[in-house]
Amino acid sequence: MDMDQEDYLVERGAWAGRDVGEATVDGARGFGDGLKMFARIVNRIAALLVVAAMVWNVRAEGAFSFDSTPGKLAKDIVPRHYEIRLQPDLESFTTKGTETVEIEVLKPTDEIVLNVLDMRVKRATIFKPDEIALRPHQDAQEQTLRLKLPEKLEPGKYRLVFEFEGRMSEQAQGLFYARYSAPSGKKIMLATQMEPTDARRMFPCWDEPAFRATYDLTVVVPEKHLAVSNMPIERERALGNGLKEVKFGRTPPMASYLVVLVSGELEALEGQAEGVRIRVITTEGRKEQGRYALDATKKLLTYYNRYFGIKYPLPKLDQIAIPGGFSGAMENWGGLTYNESVLLFDPRTSSFQTKQQIFVTVAHEMSHQWFGDLVTTAWWDDLWLNEGFATWMETKATDHFNSDWQMWLNASSEKTTVMQYDARSTTHSIQVPVGSESEASDSFDEITYQKGGAILRMLEDYLGPEVFRRGIHRYLSAHAYSNTMTADLWEALEKESGKPVGAIASGWTEQPGLPLVTVKADCDNGRQVVSLRQKRFTAQYPDAEALEWEVPIALMDAAHPAAPTHFLLEGKRGSVTLPDCQGVIKANAGDTGYYRVAYEPTLFARLQKFLGGLPVADQLNLLNDGWAMVEANHAPATNYFSLVELLRRAKNYFIWDQIITTLYLIDGLEQGQPGRAGLQEYAHALLRPQLERLGWAAKDGESPNDALLRGRVIGALGQFGDKQVIAEARARFEGFLANRETLSGDMRPVVLEIAGRYSDRKVYEQIHALARDAQGTEERQMYYRALCAALDPDLARQTLALSLTDEMVPQEATDVVVKVASDGEHADLAWDFAREHIKELLAKVDTFDRNNYVPSIVTSFSDATRADELEAYVKTNVSDDALAKATETAEEIRFRAALKRRSLPEIDAWVASHPTGGANVH
Ligand SMILES: [Zn+2]
Repeated sequence: MDMDQEDYLVERGAWAGRDVGEATVDGARGFGDGLKMFARIVNRIAALLVVAAMVWNVRAEGAFSFDSTPGKLAKDIVPRHYEIRLQPDLESFTTKGTETVEIEVLKPTDEIVLNVLDMRVKRATIFKPDEIALRPHQDAQEQTLRLKLPEKLEPGKYRLVFEFEGRMSEQAQGLFYARYSAPSGKKIMLATQMEPTDARRMFPCWDEPAFRATYDLTVVVPEKHLAVSNMPIERERALGNGLKEVKFGRTPPMASYLVVLVSGELEALEGQAEGVRIRVITTEGRKEQGRYALDATKKLLTYYNRYFGIKYPLPKLDQIAIPGGFSGAMENWGGLTYNESVLLFDPRTSSFQTKQQIFVTVAHEMSHQWFGDLVTTAWWDDLWLNEGFATWMETKATDHFNSDWQMWLNASSEKTTVMQYDARSTTHSIQVPVGSESEASDSFDEITYQKGGAILRMLEDYLGPEVFRRGIHRYLSAHAYSNTMTADLWEALEKESGKPVGAIASGWTEQPGLPLVTVKADCDNGRQVVSLRQKRFTAQYPDAEALEWEVPIALMDAAHPAAPTHFLLEGKRGSVTLPDCQGVIKANAGDTGYYRVAYEPTLFARLQKFLGGLPVADQLNLLNDGWAMVEANHAPATNYFSLVELLRRAKNYFIWDQIITTLYLIDGLEQGQPGRAGLQEYAHALLRPQLERLGWAAKDGESPNDALLRGRVIGALGQFGDKQVIAEARARFEGFLANRETLSGDMRPVVLEIAGRYSDRKVYEQIHALARDAQGTEERQMYYRALCAALDPDLARQTLALSLTDEMVPQEATDVVVKVASDGEHADLAWDFAREHIKELLAKVDTFDRNNYVPSIVTSFSDATRADELEAYVKTNVSDDALAKATETAEEIRFRAALKRRSLPEIDAWVASHPTGGANVH
């Protein structure tokens, strides 16, 4: 260290504790802990008025009102209650259904329009109270059922009765079936996935989230099935023909996309917390693997009851594992569904990553039980309210119970990914108009989740965690069993905090993109003047609209990290005058903000000296910003690599994760280029000391993140062709074949991936046999992933062909093409294959994922002609609906092509002059 510790304490006190009158802030407003530091606000009134006007324009949206909520269905008829009886046939995959809907007519009308899709409505009748038969007109394109009335319906309550026949598919949309293997043989089970717009495939309904209604569901299923829905079973009776009728209790008023039905030969692990019955429901023989999720659920239920200040409102909570098929997880109220791989944990064979993923996913879906289910976003244009919140909350809750996992660093890594995307021309604002079913599906993207989550984190940091929590409580209490828009959340937070939350936050949710804050520090008569400027941060987007934000800035002294000082940057410029020139300013302290920072060169040079002593979050922030400046062409790649060199001895997983991710990106650009070998040598030199430190075997008492880092480093060395690592992984794979106990759950994925990547035919067949025999989803996906990584083109062709067979469930089969392109580095082969078999492949893809599918195959190209090819292809061969996603990926390819042209020569030259590295700072 350069500075004497005792001297520092005096200086530090002077900087942080000055009384009013000693420091000044221009164009910035102080708040929070740092308020004392800011003596005087020099109000440039004219400038502030301009900013206020701009923010006012941005903030167009008001509070929730049912009548003005967007949607296709008229608001003059509302469903109040559904009584549905469904009989699925597991041989023909059809369903027979009857349904009574109690509706309320609010304005006189002569027609009733609701949603149906992929079903035949055989009979429709209205009771007013006399029975009148209606002619159903179905429109497949509009996904509606139109019922013309012989005479006008006056306002009042009526009953509608339907008889219908639906069908089930293996795609996870509406009611679907999943095939799987169990110890007693091949099985089929039923499950549902409704969000966003697929409840209409299971029963006729007002399938828009603002139409809340209560549901009574009755199903007829095989007697040996366990049937699960939102509410507990009210009554069950045998029908005598191997079938039984199960009637579930009535739900509270809720959105149709939250209805759930799961039925199969299932078993349950039971527990309870806070007076709520909790079950983890699995296929035969697996319930013990639900133990970890059950414990997590108990803890989280208590935590959320306290955090939200509202008790979980249903009598039971079921966590349901679906084998294969269905991907991810879904927050159906009271009956949450998960792909088995993110719910089941086998201590003998599962990895730490799986354990972490389970906790995070359970935390995410459970937070939706309040934020999403009890209070529901009115329309898909505000989807971020649900998903941004759950993304932020999953981190907060997981961190609360597992502080050694360093989940906020994980959130920082996710944030930097969405910031990369947000800098490009294809980005969009968090709140975005949604007019069609296809646009509703498209809105489930990283802007909605990750940017939404990052903005909430910044706001929580700005308002303080307890004020923020009280605001959330106020919002949920005010809108329980109802719907909301973004403005409703801002209003609750404003009331609780007394701060203009809406004016600050709307700039982040209603404008696309993010700011770049440039920081400069000058010493003027013994005082340090920190000047800040903001402009929009873009990468390869020269004609971007100029935008401004109200940026909550957290400043710290890098020389002596302590609690940061906050203030709000309003308008283009602001400055802070500090009482002395000692501090070395770092912005975005703790990496809680959603903005990039560029430092003026002298300050950047000073900052680098203190890099090793900074908290990991700030080191990571500097690395991420450093690489972002390269992507945006604001700084040479050598700036980034100089930071990497300074962090060579870092031990934190997330630092190395950032470096390895960047090296992978560059390595992808180097495919087929002369500089690749040099880059890979450099990567070996960087990573080998880490492997030497960590070894191949887990150490007693090591942190969970050391276990993660070990896998990450070995995987990267394997990927970069380190011969020793490849040989060791192969030997361990051989050992594993002889005795499964020789590889821990943590080491399995990494050893398999390396063995798969460099496999010859023999090894390939061995892995394939393991894949076919695998019973659990985590295991099966690991083996298939290893097959997809094969570099040998003949093996890659063989893997691609698997996608057309019945060997895998459709979602995993189609994913093979994507992974052969990325992990196997065979984008050309995969793209040719996909074009040749596009019809068969698209037929297997869920509607929800359809627009993303073709783009995801070509996303690893870095040749601009491929971008044009993709756009032209999707237009002619997929659909216009899919164009928006294709354009995003095309832009990503063009961006990489430009980065490759611009940065590779520079990176190659730098790598050539730094074969084994430079200065070491820990
Ligand atoms: Zn979610």
